[in-house]
Amino acid sequence: MEAKRALVCGAGGFIGSHLVNRLKREAYWVRGVDLKQPEFSPSAADSFVVGDLRKPSTWEGILDSPFDEAYQLAADMGGAGFVFSGQNDAEIMHNSCMINLHMADYGVKHKVKKIYYSSSACMYPAYNQEDPDNPNCEESSAYPAAPDSEYGWEKLFSERLYLAFARNHGLDVRIARFHNIFGPEGTWCGGREKAPAALCRKVAEQPDGGEIEIWGDGEQTRSFLYINECLEGVRRLMESDAFHGPVNIGSDEMVTINGMAQTIMDIAGKRVSTKHISGPLGVRGRNSDNRLIRERLGWTPSQPLRDGLAKTYRWIAAQMEAQRPDAVGVRIG
Ligand code: NAD
Repeated sequence: MEAKRALVCGAGGFIGSHLVNRLKREAYWVRGVDLKQPEFSPSAADSFVVGDLRKPSTWEGILDSPFDEAYQLAADMGGAGFVFSGQNDAEIMHNSCMINLHMADYGVKHKVKKIYYSSSACMYPAYNQEDPDNPNCEESSAYPAAPDSEYGWEKLFSERLYLAFARNHGLDVRIARFHNIFGPEGTWCGGREKAPAALCRKVAEQPDGGEIEIWGDGEQTRSFLYINECLEGVRRLMESDAFHGPVNIGSDEMVTINGMAQTIMDIAGKRVSTKHISGPLGVRGRNSDNRLIRERLGWTPSQPLRDGLAKTYRWIAAQMEAQRPDAVGVRIG
């Protein structure tokens, strides 16, 4: 039987590069596209195109032959520092909209059989996420819409774009709303890293008895999903012909940021104190509501947060070790 062909947009990014590996393990022929190659390991894609998905010419080039599946993960995004500062709003909206408009349009023109779109929990209304103990992220609670960032508004717009193309042009789409995906080979420094990676790095940097900074009082709640389980959810949704989403793909193990910091300290075998400073925070509470995915796909993520954090901490600590000027192979002079 001929291998299925998949296009992965955003294949140089964190989730996209892991998705390419997963699809290769499932014997797909894969083409990855991104502005850049993956940062930490070479891509496993059969074909990797470095190109700008805002440009029509890139789409003409990459869809030169038929595709069974396309996974649209490319987006201008980052951690809270990038998304919530307000300084990147125009680029976030413009760049991601352009990419999604092209994906929908070229997907129809080039008869891509199925398209997966990665939305985000950031599209949920801020008014349902003010109580850290009882956030409401049920899929049906999306309206009246009131995301707390332009990033979230763009995600909501693009969900609707794909659904409109499904209705009017027969596009076969699957949509999931990711809730804080983390794991090895994710950005861990430089300003675009997310909370799990940032906290792992901060703890790894400190000696026993040191101090780390946490934005806000640390009592804001979130849930975090390990990358392997995220991909399991994506593949199950893509394979489901009865259910198209939008559906949450996230963990429902809700933790405070302070609680996650403590878990990372346990993993590291260190005690460090926390200093609370002002910084961009996002909503007060957020957790994945997994009732719909359980009902429709008969599956939910189940891995404890601690297991994923342990793997991520080890990977970040090793990255830091390798970057030390006196590390073997990095010595200069
Ligand atoms: P990432 O930033 O690591 O990957 C996104 C990739 O898109 C990057 O490699 C970037 O270079 C690429 N890209 C951006 N603009 C491009 C352009 N014009 N042309 C080509 N490539 C371009 O992010 P990620 O964590 O892997 O997230 C993947 C998707 O999942 C994104 O759409 C994101 O919004 C969504 N998502 C992620 C999370 C999470 O916790 N990681 C949560 C919710 C939603």
